[in-house]
Amino acid sequence: METTAKTNFIYELIDKDNESGRFERRVHTRFPPEPNGYLHIGHATSIILNSGIARAYNGKFNLRFDDTNPSKEEQEYVDSIIDDVKWLGGDFEDRLFFASDYFQQMYDWAMQLVKAGKAFVCDLSAEEVRQHRGIPGEPGKDSPFRNRSVEENVDLFTRMKNGEFPDGSRTLRAKINMAHPNLNMRDPVMYRILHAEHHRQGNKWCIYPMYDWAHGLEDSIERITHSICTLEFEDHRPLYDWFIDQLGIYHPQQIEFARRTLGNTITSKRKLLELVKEKYVEGWDDPRMPTVSGFRRRGYTASALRAFCDEIGISKVPGISDIWVLENALRNELNKTAPRALAVLKPVKVVLDNYPADKTEEMDVVNNPEDPAAGTRKVPFSRELYIEADDFKEVPPKKFFRMTPGVEVRLRAAYIVKCESVAKDAAGNITEVHCTYDPATRGGDAPDGRKIKGTIHWVSARHAVPATVRLYDALFTKRNPDDVEEGRDYKENMNRNSLEVLERAMLEPSLKAAAAGSRFQFERLGYFFADPKDSKPGAPVFNRTVTLKDTWAKIEQKAPEAK
Ligand code: ATP
Ligand code: MG
Repeated sequence: METTAKTNFIYELIDKDNESGRFERRVHTRFPPEPNGYLHIGHATSIILNSGIARAYNGKFNLRFDDTNPSKEEQEYVDSIIDDVKWLGGDFEDRLFFASDYFQQMYDWAMQLVKAGKAFVCDLSAEEVRQHRGIPGEPGKDSPFRNRSVEENVDLFTRMKNGEFPDGSRTLRAKINMAHPNLNMRDPVMYRILHAEHHRQGNKWCIYPMYDWAHGLEDSIERITHSICTLEFEDHRPLYDWFIDQLGIYHPQQIEFARRTLGNTITSKRKLLELVKEKYVEGWDDPRMPTVSGFRRRGYTASALRAFCDEIGISKVPGISDIWVLENALRNELNKTAPRALAVLKPVKVVLDNYPADKTEEMDVVNNPEDPAAGTRKVPFSRELYIEADDFKEVPPKKFFRMTPGVEVRLRAAYIVKCESVAKDAAGNITEVHCTYDPATRGGDAPDGRKIKGTIHWVSARHAVPATVRLYDALFTKRNPDDVEEGRDYKENMNRNSLEVLERAMLEPSLKAAAAGSRFQFERLGYFFADPKDSKPGAPVFNRTVTLKDTWAKIEQKAPEAK
């Protein structure tokens, strides 16, 4: 597995710490998801960054569930996140942790602050706390409960924990400074009362730590050296520092970077959940979803996602990356690794009138021109074939170099053929294209060197394997789907044609037993992935992972797509 390139400012900061010996030259990072949804491409960049850093420095990487909020967390999310992190190459070895396992330690530390007069039990409601907080540039107001005695605070906090008070009736707050210019420092809430069942702790707890109290402690407990997070936590760093300094415990270094987003899709957990719940997509792993499981099911590779991360880098400035950057990373890889195959997605039948009806020839077709070691395979050829309906035009537009009456065209690795006539049904639809083939051109080259402009792919009708093929397009038509007029909904920017299902695709026979999860380049059509859930031996289902940028018949690119 290749390591992420050491090219961003975070590496520079770590190098400095290693030079000064600050963390005894240890490097220990983590990925701390809240298990309240499936991971998306933004999370993937964070996993790749954090685990890549650990690998680059021979350090360690933890997976830690930040499961401090019982109401939105589910085991399903925990399981999917573990799968995704592993798939992305995030090697946490045996270091899978849950913040909820630290609840007792966090409680003890909170009690330590209470006893030191640095935290107090407050009876203001959430709304009143908000009103007291004040606004930037203007000081807030002290809580009337701020000067409770230590004894009273110890008693009340203990009873909060013991379940004596109803939800929302009291909080534990840090006693810092209600006039602090940073609002996060204005006596922030550390604990709230919530009589809710936790996915791991059951009903053991009825007070739950707030994120700002918990997060820095989790990193400290795990002796994380570099706690990498997104920019919105920059203003929270002084608070994490305050807690850790007051407790006198191990102090990690927090480093912030800008969230990554991808064009024409969304990375809000709330909105992704909405697309799933309201069935705009078929599930979290719908191949159109920007989730890690969606990308995986679409046929993306973890190494392509890593290459994408290297390409876009890490920044302090938020930005949207274009999908084509991601697609190019994938094409670069699959071009080298994916075996080629012949497949016809929207078939029309071609009959070679001068080819014997009972004859079959085995054509040698190159498996991968980028990889000579991949060799060749035999593909059967016979009198009746399928070609793409698009590759035939009775009345060709300008510069159409595919099949058209009276003009020779090459059948890939087979013969040069010429369309002689067309058979139609009563409604005028083409039912068969009749051709003659030139027996002297086996393999596809004319011995007299005459120029053939177009090359098209085919599948022998008698040997073809019927398959379902799904083509995907971006989920949203706008680069920034949230770009909607006031009062309108982002879903109005959904692409109504993001999925096209072709039920009558015809594949070369070698694909009949294609293993679920295998990848191919269907020549001239793109890279395809045998769907891990739906594809069965004998009844393949392929997802198009990505289109081809360049087709092997360059000339094809110039031919206009006739509608
Ligand atoms: P929320 O906290 O609102 O549920 P979130 O996307 O921050 O949403 P977390 O589970 O907290 O979800 O994410 C785990 C980690 O993933 C965060 O610590 C954050 O650093 C990182 N992360 C989340 N979204 C992105 C993104 N778009 N780009 C880079 N890193 C991200
Ligand atoms: Mg978060």
